[in-house]
Amino acid sequence: MVKSESVHKSFGATHVLKGIDLEVKEGEVFCIVGPSGSGKSTFLRCINHLEKINAGRLYVGDHLVGYRQKGDKLYELRDKEVAAQRKDIGMVFQRFNLFPHMTAIENVMEAPTQVKRESKKVVRERALRLLDRVGLADKAGNYPSQLSGGQQQRVAIARALAMEPKLMLFDEPTSALDPELVGEVLDVMRDLARDGMTMVVVTHEMGFAREVGDSLVFMDDGMVVESGNPRDVLANPQHQRTQAFLSKVL
Ligand code: ATP
Ligand code: MG
Repeated sequence: MVKSESVHKSFGATHVLKGIDLEVKEGEVFCIVGPSGSGKSTFLRCINHLEKINAGRLYVGDHLVGYRQKGDKLYELRDKEVAAQRKDIGMVFQRFNLFPHMTAIENVMEAPTQVKRESKKVVRERALRLLDRVGLADKAGNYPSQLSGGQQQRVAIARALAMEPKLMLFDEPTSALDPELVGEVLDVMRDLARDGMTMVVVTHEMGFAREVGDSLVFMDDGMVVESGNPRDVLANPQHQRTQAFLSKVL
């Protein structure tokens, strides 16, 4: 579903991703852990071409992300084509960036109303189903300011699902939450995983990675230092840098 071949990314002179190789299989929960500044968010952003990579190849499904290849040459896709690629990818950020002037259901309806040629009725019904799925059917008419952080984040997940993505990217979706609200968001993610959604999850929640994750990579300084089954890597890290990181977070 996602294939990263020797992906490099720099911001000016700062070399942030230094050759990322990994593969996310369909239906799997793929966890990325690592210290602050190691390039986790940057890598996620590359997957939907919010950042342009400087070298390597990145595939989502059979698309080359952001480019078309002709012979040996790569041609950058136009904005419209990039948008078409992104339709299959849902993203949830650390900060629940809901539109503050829209109710929960309006937030969930926004993208499909703009992008898909469906009737408002169909979009609304699906939005209600999604809000129900994240346990918020009764909050459809609330504005973000009238919701807790955990509820806002669940609306953000419903909003990402409204485009019926094939892939979901989560960037530390619980790290801005009060501890007592973390569980309700992880539960929604666990449900999604059980339904077979392909998910790439940047997280510091090692319990979630251990229980729900199918694969895990440890990133440090723009590189994948160690990868494998989350239970193995977390119980028995091989690399000294992984050991040092885990001793701090576990
Ligand atoms: P955290 O755990 O704190 O979220 P991270 O692993 O997600 O960290 P990134 O946000 O990917 O790390 O950042 C990796 C490096 O890239 C950092 O040194 C950061 O300063 C740099 N960086 C990220 N985005 C930009 C940007 N738009 N311009 C310049 N430098 C950037
Ligand atoms: Mg980050």
